[in-house]
Amino acid sequence: LISLKECKINYFPDFIVHPAEEVQMQKLLKLANSLKIPVIPYGGGSGVCGGTTPVKGGIILDLKKMNKILNIDEKSLTVTCESGIIGENLEKKLNGKGYTLGHHPQSIYCSTLGGWIATRSAGQLSTKYGKIEDIVLGIRVILPDGEILETRAIPRTATGPNIMQIFLGSEGTLGIITQATLRIHNYPEVRNFSSFEFEDVSLGLSAIRNILQSGIRPAGVRLYDELDTIIFKMTKEEDSKNKIFSPILKFAKDKVEKLIFRRPILGNKLASSVGKKVLLILSFEGKREIVELEKRISKEICLKNKGEDTGEELGLKWWNHRFDVAYNLSKVFHSCSFADTIEVATTWDRIEKLYYSLKEELSKDVFIMAHFSHAYQEGCSVYFSIMAREADEQKSREFYDRIWDRAISTCLANGGTISHHHGVGYSKGKYLEEELKEGMRIYKNLKSTLDPNNILNPGKMGL
Ligand SMILES: Cc1cc2nc3c(=O)[nH]c(=O)nc-3n(C[C@H](O)[C@H](O)[C@H](O)COP(=O)(O)OP(=O)(O)OC[C@H]3O[C@@H](n4cnc5c(N)ncnc54)[C@H](O)[C@@H]3O)c2cc1C
Repeated sequence: LISLKECKINYFPDFIVHPAEEVQMQKLLKLANSLKIPVIPYGGGSGVCGGTTPVKGGIILDLKKMNKILNIDEKSLTVTCESGIIGENLEKKLNGKGYTLGHHPQSIYCSTLGGWIATRSAGQLSTKYGKIEDIVLGIRVILPDGEILETRAIPRTATGPNIMQIFLGSEGTLGIITQATLRIHNYPEVRNFSSFEFEDVSLGLSAIRNILQSGIRPAGVRLYDELDTIIFKMTKEEDSKNKIFSPILKFAKDKVEKLIFRRPILGNKLASSVGKKVLLILSFEGKREIVELEKRISKEICLKNKGEDTGEELGLKWWNHRFDVAYNLSKVFHSCSFADTIEVATTWDRIEKLYYSLKEELSKDVFIMAHFSHAYQEGCSVYFSIMAREADEQKSREFYDRIWDRAISTCLANGGTISHHHGVGYSKGKYLEEELKEGMRIYKNLKSTLDPNNILNPGKMGL
């Protein structure tokens, strides 16, 4: 993005191809192998780690014409489809037949099934339906030599290591996923929301942990820290204001944004003096009786953790705006500023330490806020949004890299994984070995066995 602002594109592909059939890709891979030309699988291009950047040129293999739904098995509740299908199209088709996939990443309009599997994506309702690795039952992959590998879609098996899992999160470096069979669910009879305010992050996290460990699975769980709570509420208020006030609000917002980018520390201080509460949003869906029970028990748990019931409306607001994405960059981005997200995860015993350490480490230099989501019985993820600005493009880039180095080392030192769902791609490649350790040797060996000419997405994932 920093380069794009300067109208610089550092890497171009030599070709972009749009296959509509597997056999075309098989032929292409055989040719690319013989000529040693890089091939980069491309889904929606929504990945945020540079995974589709053609750092060594070559062929961009755009999979969006591979978009057919091949079968819906209404007895087993599974769907089989081609990997280039856009998430929203798949979900709409399933909804029309009375089902849901339950996988709703914020990028659902611009990301594909293949991209989700290749990056181990998480939807906003992952607490109930799981991450994509919990949803996918079987895949079909074209290997770098053009051969086809199909893993069977069965509920469970004990026939050796799970070969399918090797391709999940491999980000186009080991094979091209062309089809997948996924678990689906009956479309929920009801959907319901609740929200609570807590005095601090610690109490909010304790409530989430108690809910999950009592066996309840809300569909969505989001705990905003103090600053993120203010921002969430500001957005809400702005929406409900009369149109007459919107130019004034916009002016105020621009001024605040400028302050945040110029003096992030001041922004952080201002926010911590204003923000006193943290907001938890819970959503529930499924059979009416079960939802009512889950909601009631969750409420009891929140109240026990000194939560204040703030009603359904805030939850509904989140639901209605859950896919809102600003495709137009704010004006401040044109002044050597950058914004990014850092999404990490760990177990409950470490999550607070991870959150506070990372926040403390970065808040000296960047404007920072966070929310906790994707909760599990044993832990959850935390998603930081950071913003800062430097004098010129070069400084901005160096500063950005230093911020990431510090964030990653703080995360690893506190027992976190460096990515919960965005993946590794190009930008986090240099850190992967630190996380995988001996696992990186196995990954490298797999790569050289499957792809000896290194044609599939070279230069990514620290390879
Ligand atoms: C506004 C916004 C919101 C987002 N919200 C979320 C979110 O809520 N949850 C989440 O998990 N992520 C989110 N992301 C990140 C991104 O959408 C996900 O990583 C998504 O899974 C990428 O899918 P894609 O089809 O766009 O993949 P791409 O960006 O096209 O590719 C990503 C990587 O996967 C590889 N790849 C793609 N298709 C295949 C295939 N068929 N076979 C093999 N390799 C392949 C590519 O080579 C690349 O390395 C968001 C991104 C944006 C921009």
